[in-house]
Amino acid sequence: MFVDEDRQVNLEAIRSGIRALCKDFPESYWREKDDNMAYPEEFIEVLTKEGWLSVLIPEEYGGAGLGVLEASVILEEINRSGGNAGAGHAQMYTMGALLRHGSPDQKQKYLPKIASGELRLQAFGVTEPNAGSDTTNLDTFAEKKGNKYIVNGQKIWISRSQQSDLMLLLARTTPKKEVKKKTDGLSIFLLDMNDQKDNINIQPIDTMINHATTEIFLENVEIPEENLIGEEGKGFKYILSGMNAERILIASESIGDGKYFIDKGTAYANERVIFKRPIGQNQGVQFPLAESYMKIEAAELIRDKAAVMFDNGEKDGKEANMAKYLSSESTWEAANAVMDIHGGYGLAKEYHIERKFREARLYKVAPITNNLIVTYIAQHVLGLPRSF
Ligand SMILES: Cc1cc2nc3c(=O)[nH]c(=O)nc-3n(C[C@H](O)[C@H](O)[C@H](O)COP(=O)(O)OP(=O)(O)OC[C@H]3O[C@@H](n4cnc5c(N)ncnc54)[C@H](O)[C@@H]3O)c2cc1C
Repeated sequence: MFVDEDRQVNLEAIRSGIRALCKDFPESYWREKDDNMAYPEEFIEVLTKEGWLSVLIPEEYGGAGLGVLEASVILEEINRSGGNAGAGHAQMYTMGALLRHGSPDQKQKYLPKIASGELRLQAFGVTEPNAGSDTTNLDTFAEKKGNKYIVNGQKIWISRSQQSDLMLLLARTTPKKEVKKKTDGLSIFLLDMNDQKDNINIQPIDTMINHATTEIFLENVEIPEENLIGEEGKGFKYILSGMNAERILIASESIGDGKYFIDKGTAYANERVIFKRPIGQNQGVQFPLAESYMKIEAAELIRDKAAVMFDNGEKDGKEANMAKYLSSESTWEAANAVMDIHGGYGLAKEYHIERKFREARLYKVAPITNNLIVTYIAQHVLGLPRSF
């Protein structure tokens, strides 16, 4: 509906390529990683080697030069297979800030190495303990001294920092009380974490999902001025454009989870016989499945629209936010329905439902909570008064 025939054919080819790749990483692989809270290194290596994580990087820098729609179906199919694309998704899109706002020298220096996987840019350092959803209230400060910035502060929930060479870091460069608008005075940097490892203290956070997330203490971290991306003080604007891409891609993972649940739930409802008939014959079992199926299909349509708009350079804030909200909510409905359909077996690890159930829940919270999305729609689309 939103894409021409040639692009559709290419999307189908991408889907089948990813399905084939994922066959080598069955659910037992993901279960083992989850049991051990281990990073799926082998999976990420294959994805990198086959070029799937560099699809958004232009060809001149060694990527495939494809759009967010193509990236979306890659992540969707990984999650639909029972896997967890979250382990690699940031390598795809975090570089967007560099691509859109970096200097020619910065792009030439970093993008080819990010495309080949020689450098991992999988860490995006935004959230802080005292700021949370209120991003512009963050405290981490980068003070310019000579030709470098000295950074002090604390970040929380920064995923894959232990698996990354580089972090895209958001910090204040002008104190909040000295700027007219709270969104001013924030800057983004490419932080070389290997170079500064003595000044960066990374503490893993134990979570209910295997997401390699961490808390980070930055003490007199030095960043050369040439690693400032774009203009000092304009960082918030730069990350906002990337956040729409992130929301579309995360929506895609949710849609993949949703389809996984529908596939699993339907198969189980057809094969499980209780009271001498398949449980799927009962409307109490059918309805929640059919209802969440319809909602996931609708979320996919909005996701496609948002991705095509992003790829065309159109303003897609409304669509990107709606896609993230609708996909995570409909998939969470499907997760609960399929957990119910499995009866006691839903809780057994060997059925994998409980792992995907835990993983699917994240997307109601991150990268932005659904309350904040509803707030965005209320204020920016409907024109209702600001609530905060
Ligand atoms: C596994 C995981 C991985 C993550 N990875 C990253 C990462 O790589 N990089 C990164 O920077 N961050 C990351 N995050 C952080 C994530 O983006 C934040 O958790 C999220 O933005 C919410 O912030 P918070 O947890 O501080 O919640 P809070 O901001 O404290 O919010 C708590 C609750 O209050 C609600 N609330 C707050 N204010 C309002 C309001 N005005 N109106 C209505 N409701 C409101 C929220 O919706 C939420 O339900 C990750 C989080 C998790 C759990």
